Amino acid sequence: MSSKKTTPNKGVLVDLTKCVGCGSCTVACKLWNNQSFQNPENREEEFRNAHGENVKLDSNTWTTVEHMKVQKDGKEVWRYVKRQCMHCQDPSCKSVCFANAFHITEEGAVQYNPELCVGCRYCMIACPFDIPKYEWEKVMPSVMKCQFCSSKLAEGEAPACASVCPTNALIFGDREALLAQAHATISANPNLYIDHVYGESEVGGTNWLYISDVPFGDLGFPTNLPMGKSVPENIHGFTRFTPFIFAGGAALWTGVHLYSKRRHAVAEAEGNEKHD
Ligand code: SF4
Ligand code: SF4
Ligand code: SF4
Repeated sequence: MSSKKTTPNKGVLVDLTKCVGCGSCTVACKLWNNQSFQNPENREEEFRNAHGENVKLDSNTWTTVEHMKVQKDGKEVWRYVKRQCMHCQDPSCKSVCFANAFHITEEGAVQYNPELCVGCRYCMIACPFDIPKYEWEKVMPSVMKCQFCSSKLAEGEAPACASVCPTNALIFGDREALLAQAHATISANPNLYIDHVYGESEVGGTNWLYISDVPFGDLGFPTNLPMGKSVPENIHGFTRFTPFIFAGGAALWTGVHLYSKRRHAVAEAEGNEKHD
């Protein structure tokens, strides 16, 4: 991150005890980002498909709300989990991208630039939250993910999803203030909340933060991540060599391609000689 940065990182605090699974956030995201709807007649299908199954993130769906049946105090309960890019403070997607297709805005949004992407898909492998998705269906595909509505953030506005949440399950603000709010909420309700703010320390900290009354592991959050240390810091030895690994792979591929071309040319010449 630039040493000139003066704007505090923005974030969203997701209070999973308040989410009712309405899916307004998913619809708002698609409208703001001009994405197509699975079924324009039934917008519930943005997060629950026609078979009642959870819709997963894909290149045309940058956020979704998973309906999950989990155990709490010996009873089955439903919880609703909004998923999107976590906007890591030291993102591994960015660190492995030798094409510099990712950058972090002043407000802390991890932005992706399809113009610079060469389609290697290292970012998809590197992301600890399995967020970037590929446009497999397109001839000239790009990687796609939530951009934290960065143009809105630059204007001091909340992202589209947070601005429509009817229950205040999504609270937008300065990350540090949200962190303090999260801890205060947990302290005021110790019998309700798990004593953990997810994203405070995971992979060195993320700008999206979660609090919950059900263990995060039961809600599909990865719980074996490095704490207080980013993935790039942990795998510095590997990411340092990524461009060389890619360059080596590209050279090998080019070599194989040129060899096949040469073999083809020789075979053609031999065939022509026989016909002469
Ligand atoms: S969640 Fe994944 S895609 Fe998003 S910033 Fe972190 S590493 Fe990058
Ligand atoms: S921040 Fe913007 S792009 Fe990201 S999930 Fe919310 S509405 Fe979609
Ligand atoms: S808009 Fe709010 S309450 Fe509705 S699904 Fe999204 S996070 Fe949950």
